[in-house]
Amino acid sequence: MSYISKLEWLDALDSDYLKDTLDPAERATHDLICEEHCLLLEPDNPKVEQWHLHNQHIFEHNLFRISPEVRQLKYENPELYEAIQQAIDSHIMEHSRYIGESVDQSIYQNAKALLNSYS
Ligand SMILES: [Zn+2]
Repeated sequence: MSYISKLEWLDALDSDYLKDTLDPAERATHDLICEEHCLLLEPDNPKVEQWHLHNQHIFEHNLFRISPEVRQLKYENPELYEAIQQAIDSHIMEHSRYIGESVDQSIYQNAKALLNSYS
């Protein structure tokens, strides 16, 4: 890739070009996640709701952990850095709990459907 085309890509990324490839649910989720990251930086724990797109949240929260913004704190303010990592940990755990529950529910429903098909 030439230097010029790299610059064009960087420009495109900067002007939220990729955001236009998101579908409405992904875009709304992305905006929500950005708000959550502001709270996590406090550090505060934003509320996880059942209807959130948990997989997208977990993915973006893990990216946030290693973002330059957060990594910088490791040197500038190690205590805050630790507190933020812990806040992200417990926030991600809450998202995982909802995924776990919906998996359990579908296993239960499949089992029930199977039982019904035999009776
Ligand atoms: Zn979240």
